[in-house]
Amino acid sequence: MALVRRLAEVGAADRPSTGGKAAALGELTRAGLPVPGGCVVTAAAFGRAMAAVDPSGALVRSVAEVAAGDVSAITRAAAGVMFTRSPVTGDRSVVAIEGTWGLGSALVSGEVTPDGFTVSKVTGEITGRRVGAKLRLHYLGPNGPGISVQDMPVALRRRPCLTDDEARALASVARRVATKGGTMELLVEDAVFVTMAADAGSSGPAGGMLVRDGRIAAVGPAEAVRAAASPGTRVVRLDGATVVPGLIDAHCHVADVGYLAAAADCSQPSAPDIPTIQARLREAADRTPQGSWVTGSGYVEYKLREGRHPTRADLDQAVPHRPAVLYHTSLHACVLNTAALAVAGFADGQPDPPGGAFGRDSEGRLDGVVFERPMFALFEQNLRDDLARMDAAARIELVQMAGRRLAALGLTAACEADMRRDSLAAFGDADADGRLSLRIYGLVVHDQLDWLLASGLRGRWSSRLAAEAIKIWADGGMSSRTAAIHGTYPVPPYGSGILYFERDELTEMIRDFDARGFQVAIHAQGDRAIETVLDAYAATLAGGAGGAGRTGGAGRTGNPLRHRIEHGGAMYPPLAARAAELGIVVVSQPGFMSTLGDGFAEAFGDRSDELYGFRSWQQAGITVAGSSDAPVITADPLLGIRDAILRRTGNGRVLGPAERLTAREALALYTTKAAFAARREREIGSLEPGKRADFVVLEANPLAANAEQISDIGVLATVLGGTPVYQAG
Ligand SMILES: [Zn+2]
Repeated sequence: MALVRRLAEVGAADRPSTGGKAAALGELTRAGLPVPGGCVVTAAAFGRAMAAVDPSGALVRSVAEVAAGDVSAITRAAAGVMFTRSPVTGDRSVVAIEGTWGLGSALVSGEVTPDGFTVSKVTGEITGRRVGAKLRLHYLGPNGPGISVQDMPVALRRRPCLTDDEARALASVARRVATKGGTMELLVEDAVFVTMAADAGSSGPAGGMLVRDGRIAAVGPAEAVRAAASPGTRVVRLDGATVVPGLIDAHCHVADVGYLAAAADCSQPSAPDIPTIQARLREAADRTPQGSWVTGSGYVEYKLREGRHPTRADLDQAVPHRPAVLYHTSLHACVLNTAALAVAGFADGQPDPPGGAFGRDSEGRLDGVVFERPMFALFEQNLRDDLARMDAAARIELVQMAGRRLAALGLTAACEADMRRDSLAAFGDADADGRLSLRIYGLVVHDQLDWLLASGLRGRWSSRLAAEAIKIWADGGMSSRTAAIHGTYPVPPYGSGILYFERDELTEMIRDFDARGFQVAIHAQGDRAIETVLDAYAATLAGGAGGAGRTGGAGRTGNPLRHRIEHGGAMYPPLAARAAELGIVVVSQPGFMSTLGDGFAEAFGDRSDELYGFRSWQQAGITVAGSSDAPVITADPLLGIRDAILRRTGNGRVLGPAERLTAREALALYTTKAAFAARREREIGSLEPGKRADFVVLEANPLAANAEQISDIGVLATVLGGTPVYQAG
C-alpha cells in the first residue's frame, strides 16, 4: 500500500491551485468513454495529455498497439495510465507507469472527484527475469512533465493482472487514441536476424531492426539501422536471441483448436489406452454443461495400447446416460456412445450414409465409430450448438484461447481452413474487441458462400481478419484411410477412400468461385482425388479467355488467384508436374511425418516414400507452403520445420529420404511461402522494410541448430505488428 500512498501523493502534488475543476470534469464526462476506476475521459483529452507527458508519443502508441492485440498483454507490455486533472492545462492530467517493453507493467486506477484524483487500485502482473524492482512514473507536475523512479513493493509484483473490464476499458480508450496519430518506434538490437528476404545478406548480416508504427522501418547493419531511428527511440536488446519472421500456418483449424482445447485430452501419448480415455471422459462429464455433449479428442487407434478404435461400449462405461463423443485426431472419424448414436439418429441395420461409413461389430451392429461426412456433420453441429449456447464473451474467449496457444508457438498468422458463419462472427467480435492475437485469413466453407455474400462480410475486414478464399473437400483423410486413391488400402476400413465430388461437379463449383474472384483451396489427399482436382482446375484455368463463366477478353496465364491444393499427400510425380504447370499452390503438413507417418507407411506400403514429396514438388516448380492442420496434430511450426528436414516417423523410419529439405527451405515453408499461399507476401513472411512488424524471438537460430533439436527451441516472444502478444513466462 506504500506505493498507492506515494502515487496518491504524486496525484496530490499535481492538484491545480486554481479553478477549472468543474470544466475538467465536464469534459471528462461528456465523451462517456469509460476508463478504469470509473472516471471518464475524452479520447482527445487523453491524447493531448499523453502527448504532454510523453512528447515522443512512444508511450501512447505502446498502449494503443497492445490494445489492438491481446488485452492480457497490456499487463505485460504496456504502460499503465492514471487519469487525473492537469495542473498545467487545467482540464486533464495523466500519470503513467512506464511499461518496460515486454517485461512488465502495472495499472493505476482511481476516480476523478471534485477534490482531485483518488487512487483506488494498483494492479499489475510483473513477470520476467529482467524486471527490476523499480517503477518509473511519468507524471505531469506543477512544472510540467516529470519522471520519478520508485521502488516497487514486492506485493505488487505478485498481484493479479487487470480485470477484463479494466483491460477492455483501457483498450477502448487507447484504440481511439491510436487513430489520432503519433508514432511508436522500437529498435531491436543484439540479436541474430533471420530475415528470409530474397536478398538477405547482400549487405552483410542484419544487426538491428527498427519498428515504426507496427511496421518494419529498417533492418540491416546495426549502425545503419540506428542512424534511421528517431531520437528517444526505445531500444530492446535481446541478448543474442534469434529473430525470425512471424511464423504462418497456412492451414489450421483455428476455431476448432479453441473448441477442442476445452475438450478432454485423449491424445497419445497422454492417454495411452482406452481405460485412460474413459477416465478423461468421466472427468469431462463432470464439467460439461447439460445439453452439451461430453467431448474428448485426439485419439489415434493404432497408437492406443489396444490398437483399435474405442467403441460405443467403451464410451458407455464412462458416460452411460448422456451423449458423449470422442474425436479421432484426424477429425475424419469419431466414436459415439449409445446416447449420442440415438440423438444422431444412427441405428443398427441402417446402411452407410452417403460419403461416410459406420464401424460395425461382428454381428453387424453399429460399434459407435463414424467416418467422414456424417462425422463432419456431427462435429459441425456440436461446435455450432456449443457456439450458439455461448454468449459473445465466451465466443471471444474461445478465439482468444486458440490465439494464445498459437502465439505461444510463434505463430502470427493462420489460414482458418474451415471458416463458417459462427466462427467468422467469433473472429470478428474478437477483432473488434482488440483481442485477436494473430492474423486470420479465412477459407470459407463452400456451402456458406451465399451467406457470406449476403452478409457483406466478404473481403478484408481489417489487417487481422479477412475472408476471401473458399474451402472445398475433395476426399477423406490419410490417417483415417479415407483419402481417395487408385487401388485399395491394405488396412481397415479397406476400400479406395471417399471422393466427394465428380470432376464435372467440381469444375462447375471452381468456375463459379473463380469467376467471383475467390481463391479456391481444395482438400485433396489421395492420388485419385488430386487427379480429379487437377482436371477441374485445368478446365477452369486453361484457355484463358475461353474459360466459361468469365468475362473480359484478355486471356490470362497461370493461376492469378492462387488456387490451392490442401495437403496433396499422394501427389506423385506425374500429378506434381501437372500441378506445377497449372501454377497450383500446395499447402502441406510436414509435421504429419513424426505424428502420423507410421500410419501412412502401413496404408501406402512401398509408395509411402513418395508421399508429401516436398523436394520433388519444389523442383517441379510448385510453391509449397507449410501448415499444421491443427488440431489434427499440434500446431507447433518448429516441429513441422524439423520434420520437413528429417522426415522421420514416430518409429524412426525416414519416409522418402530424397524429399528432405534444408533448414532454410523448411523455414521458408512457414514464412515466405505461407505468406504467398495466403496472398499476403507484400505484408508478411519476411523481415523487410515496409512489411508488418510480425516477428518471433527464438532462444536459438533454427538455421544453425542441430535439426533434431529444432522443435525444442524455446519461443521467447511473439510480436504482432510491433506489439508483443506472447512472452515466455
Ligand atoms: Zn484441414
